Amino acid sequence: MKFSLVAETLKFMEGTTKRLELTKYLVDLFKITPPEIISHVVYLLQGKLRPDHEGIEMGIAEKIAIKAISKSAGVPIKKIQQEYNKLGDFGQAASKILEQKTQTTFLTQDITVERVYDTLYKIAELKGARSQDMKMKYISSLLNDATPIEAGFILKIITNSLRLGIADFTILDSLAIAFTGTKENRGMLEHAYNVSSDLGKVASAVAKNGIEAIKNFQVAVFSPVRPMLAERVKSPQEAHEKMGAEFAAEYKLDGERVQVHLQGEKIILYSRSLENITNYYPDIVEKISRAINAKEVILEAEAVAINEDSGEFLAFQELMHRRRKYGVTKAVSQYPITVNFFDVMFVDSKSCLNLSYKERRKMLEKLVKEDTFAKLVPMIIVKNDNDVEDFLENAINAGCEGLMLKQLDGIYKAGARGSNWLKIKREYRNELGDSLDLVVIGAFYGRGRRTGKYGALLLGTYNNETDTFPSICKVGTGFTDESLDQFYQILSDKITIKKNPRIESGLEADVWFEPEVVIEIVASEITLSPIHKTAMDTIRKGSGLALRFPKFTGRIRLEKTPENATTDQEIISLYNGQKRAVQEEKKQNYL
Ligand code: ATP
Repeated sequence: MKFSLVAETLKFMEGTTKRLELTKYLVDLFKITPPEIISHVVYLLQGKLRPDHEGIEMGIAEKIAIKAISKSAGVPIKKIQQEYNKLGDFGQAASKILEQKTQTTFLTQDITVERVYDTLYKIAELKGARSQDMKMKYISSLLNDATPIEAGFILKIITNSLRLGIADFTILDSLAIAFTGTKENRGMLEHAYNVSSDLGKVASAVAKNGIEAIKNFQVAVFSPVRPMLAERVKSPQEAHEKMGAEFAAEYKLDGERVQVHLQGEKIILYSRSLENITNYYPDIVEKISRAINAKEVILEAEAVAINEDSGEFLAFQELMHRRRKYGVTKAVSQYPITVNFFDVMFVDSKSCLNLSYKERRKMLEKLVKEDTFAKLVPMIIVKNDNDVEDFLENAINAGCEGLMLKQLDGIYKAGARGSNWLKIKREYRNELGDSLDLVVIGAFYGRGRRTGKYGALLLGTYNNETDTFPSICKVGTGFTDESLDQFYQILSDKITIKKNPRIESGLEADVWFEPEVVIEIVASEITLSPIHKTAMDTIRKGSGLALRFPKFTGRIRLEKTPENATTDQEIISLYNGQKRAVQEEKKQNYL
């Protein structure tokens, strides 16, 4: 397939942010793509080569890409940098430079999607001292045969700057329309995606064998399942209103969620955002098989740092010391953990997702032989408000964040935040009832003691309808000198020349960042705002929502991707909940 067909689609897509138009362009492209390579096209559209959990990264720095353009176009590096600074878009700068060259040369052959994909894959596999040079050569050979537009998009893909604003569900909609004739089937495709976390695999199945292939899509070991998530509640009463009289309550441990995939001797661990985190937990790999009574399983657990002498749970921050490239062995002995199982998704070739919570918990109790390292999450069956209060008290005293409340007959809904699971945290009595996870999108320079560092950060939510990061607040409190230094270092890598098009903000920050770092914030209230863009026009035309008195809690949420941040939808429901609470209070006072 000619790569020009993909490049043309990308060009059209860059010209719109409307979901319907984006979907139409994708449908047209998918219909002319041979099924054997549709997975490649889907990955490339997302700027990837394989699903994230396989950890295959192109890893091309802009510096190398600039060298490759210089080699292909015979133009000095400095000139390319100037053009880039002027246009602020790497792909456009490259297209412009290469355009001047093509006016004087003839292209030798059309480049194909297969060639682009294979070359990029080879580049991703290159390791070692001389790899940078080889990468540069591979890129420049592609650029030699590409048209300027094609070259621009190839460069955007490899430098990870392709910003189309297409979320996963836009691709799923388009696949449903292209291969089953109707968007109605999106739900089935979404389910297949939720159990495999691989859009390419879903695309390939539906393109080759239609909706039947999707109906038979199965959970499988080493394909991570997208995790089920919980809704917040503020009180035991609210939990009973949502779940009825009887439900399960489990400790909500303050650690890292780990999805354990085990088949015989082979073990892979995935994080909440489905990154392969096996390397950070050699102790789990070493000790876990002796605690599990099955040959092939997918289980979910919370890994929690503990005080080995007292057995007490320690805070999440302790665990994050393990997130390092070097010295993991030392970190493992310095920060010991226990692994606390709370769910089972797959056992010996059978999916457990459609079993009820009660059945899954029973199965889990049979599967896990508890020892000093492997545990089951403490659980009770709740019958009244007092049970929740008492168990919550115990959980907090034991160092947990709160409780998870689970519907007894609820199935495991992969990838969904629904009311089968609720969470109630110790903060529930005050203010918003929960912390928020927000994306750092910009910063303002500090004054006084903070001169030379950032004085305040601009934060955004995630809008999963438009795949953007609208601003919700500026935060300047809660930072220690140490955390300010830490931010300065972490964020210096993320600075961009121009505001990333996925960021929406009415404020002009001093510095803009790639939306990548997620931090935890508490606040006193959500208010309407003429400046901030979260949930714009939803509650009132011309207004967004903003946080009052936001404060950094001290937690950088390394295990979350920006797409895992608090969504506009969650802010809207917190805002509505807050309004209801005020009305209730007024009514009480009146009575
Ligand atoms: P939070 O910021 O509160 O951790 P989250 O967005 O990561 O929330 P939620 O669905 O809101 O995810 O809360 C569930 C999280 O709580 C899980 O991701 C998991 O890491 C953790 N957790 C701790 N104990 C349990 C438990 N018993 N059952 C399920 N999840 C648990």
